[in-house]
Amino acid sequence: MRPSSLRVFIDNHPAIHRLVIRWLRWRAKRYPCPFCDIVQGNAPGRVVYQDEWVTAFWDAHPSTSIHILVVPNRHIPTLNDLVPSDKPLCGHLLLVARQLAQEHHLIAGGYSLTTNTGLHAGQTVFHLHIHLKNGGNGT
Ligand code: 5GP
Ligand code: ZN
Repeated sequence: MRPSSLRVFIDNHPAIHRLVIRWLRWRAKRYPCPFCDIVQGNAPGRVVYQDEWVTAFWDAHPSTSIHILVVPNRHIPTLNDLVPSDKPLCGHLLLVARQLAQEHHLIAGGYSLTTNTGLHAGQTVFHLHIHLKNGGNGT
């Protein structure tokens, strides 16, 4: 089952949805953040870009042929946790995503940038991230 079909399945079954939410909360308490791990260099093979503010790496379960995650190096759980002084960081995240789209030849064909915020929007990793995906083969 593709991750996106799995998400639809979970959303349509409230009992399973509740279990998944409990499991995600349990996992978040028990394990350190997987994206902080990547930022700190523990999965170097996946990283496609890094500077002092942001890191970009291949999604472990891509839903399109190009599926890159762009994250702030600082652990910020969700978009809701941004503060006014993060304005330059937010602009930088977008510009890096656009640069990666260009480097992966996505400008002509189009691409999407998405951020899920909160469990009910499908956020599963609570370290702010932008999904960069090519269009065309189902997102
Ligand atoms: P969300 O569902 O929170 O919007 O997106 C989380 C994304 O992170 C998913 O697309 C998932 O495949 C990806 N992901 C989860 N854990 C890891 C990991 O440890 N490494 C990488 N590279 N991607 C991950
Ligand atoms: Zn983190």
